[in-house]
Amino acid sequence: MTHTRLAGTVSAVAFGFVLAFAPALPAAAQDKAPYTVKDLNEESVMALAWVQTSAEFHELCYQAYNLAGMLVDRAVAAKQSGDKPLAVIADLDETLIDNSAYDAGLVGRDASYSGKTWLEWELAAQARALPGSADFLNAAAKEGVEIFYVTNRDQAGLQGTIRNLKALGFPYADEKHIMTGSGDKQPRFDAIAKDYSVVVYMGDNANDMPIGTYGKNMKDRNAIVDQNRAKYGTQFVVLPNPVYGDWEPALAPGYWGLSPKGKDEARTSHFYTWVPAQ
Ligand SMILES: [Mg+2]
Repeated sequence: MTHTRLAGTVSAVAFGFVLAFAPALPAAAQDKAPYTVKDLNEESVMALAWVQTSAEFHELCYQAYNLAGMLVDRAVAAKQSGDKPLAVIADLDETLIDNSAYDAGLVGRDASYSGKTWLEWELAAQARALPGSADFLNAAAKEGVEIFYVTNRDQAGLQGTIRNLKALGFPYADEKHIMTGSGDKQPRFDAIAKDYSVVVYMGDNANDMPIGTYGKNMKDRNAIVDQNRAKYGTQFVVLPNPVYGDWEPALAPGYWGLSPKGKDEARTSHFYTWVPAQ
């Protein structure tokens, strides 16, 4: 999970204060009740239902890991003696493990993502494997390919993350191969690429690829991905995450500081639409 996710907690507290001291409102005025974090959380319902229930989500996961497995097989077959050892670089959250229980736990509540509750989730070690992820990783490890988990989970939760990955049967679940940190992953990618030949980068976020999208606005991140189109499916494999990602703060400058209503408006402001004639 990207830890640039910040809560709209301040405005939620402010709305709560107003509501607590307001007299009972007539029905018409209640229709104009402030749009809260709880309302905003309702917007995640379809994405979460899809991730947690759909066969189609499983299909896309299997497709991603099967493709990555083919790239591993091909690299192993082409490897010459004296070449650098092979490695897979993969993000963790929503690339190999499923944290949707954390996000589904926000639905129906006036609460947002926070660093504090996310750390509790990491230490609880309850993330599930995405369908097919453990099999893919173990097959690659068996072929002599090392796995590096380049994650923006933080160091404080590392022991929980290790416990979680070990329980899921992931290989290389150790302090050398789980590279925590924050922000731009490129320095960690570069450190690995010095000693390894990277077979494939895997992620659910454009920033999981070594293409320089970190901190870029919507137009630029889309343009960078378009410029790198030939690498998708050949050097990069992407998993679907409709729930969150760095595409979200790219919706508007200062997005994390917006009110719940402001975030909702930023989300709809980019729609292209069609409506039938009356
Ligand atoms: Mg991720």
